[in-house]
Amino acid sequence: MPPILYAATTNQGKLRDFSTAAQAFSVEIEPLTILATIPAPEETGSTFAENAALKAVYYSRLAPKDEIILADDSGLEADALNGAPGVRSARFAADSGLTDSSDAPLDNTDVWNNMVLLQKLAGVPAEKRTVRYRCVLAAARNGEIVESAEGFVEGVILDAPRGTGGFGYDPLFYLPALGKTMAEIDLETRLLLSHRGRALKTLLQRLQFKNFVG
Ligand code: IMP
Repeated sequence: MPPILYAATTNQGKLRDFSTAAQAFSVEIEPLTILATIPAPEETGSTFAENAALKAVYYSRLAPKDEIILADDSGLEADALNGAPGVRSARFAADSGLTDSSDAPLDNTDVWNNMVLLQKLAGVPAEKRTVRYRCVLAAARNGEIVESAEGFVEGVILDAPRGTGGFGYDPLFYLPALGKTMAEIDLETRLLLSHRGRALKTLLQRLQFKNFVG
């Protein structure tokens, strides 16, 4: 039986990214079932690495003894915004006060986040609209970090959204080499490019080196 790593996420897209990246390794990735029954920890870190580590340690303390727990944190970094929204990617619009206004409910967080991103990059020329999705993955066991790794994919933010696939900032995230946004590419290409998949491959290589996985 291949070893099983338990991912602290219920997000099907993330689980798919992880499982695809794990195919080349003798390891299985399964969702951590206790996730549904316990409160999530507060993500108080100021970096993806801090948040991934605090989540992995938290869940591994509550998981059965010796289980290896994977936790991730990811987001968008815009060079013209000094790396923002970074760890605040999911809450970019809320941080800009949009939730406070009764006529601007955050019923579609992604749309509002994209709007705020476009506003903040207004007037920034194409060559300076460089961004990346970054993902940091941490693996912990019995309350201690055993390994971590990161992966990223580079792109450029367009002036207007294109495409209907994906989620988050994908309709604005343009891949110059492909001439498409993340919301326009097919699933296979997406899985190849995934910052999460890349982080997991690096993590598994490191765990393999330390004989945690085969
Ligand atoms: P999470 O906390 O790792 O789930 O992700 C934080 C936020 O980063 C998401 O809500 C999205 O706004 C953004 N993000 C992370 N990965 C992606 C991606 O692959 N596509 C689009 N947006 C992403």
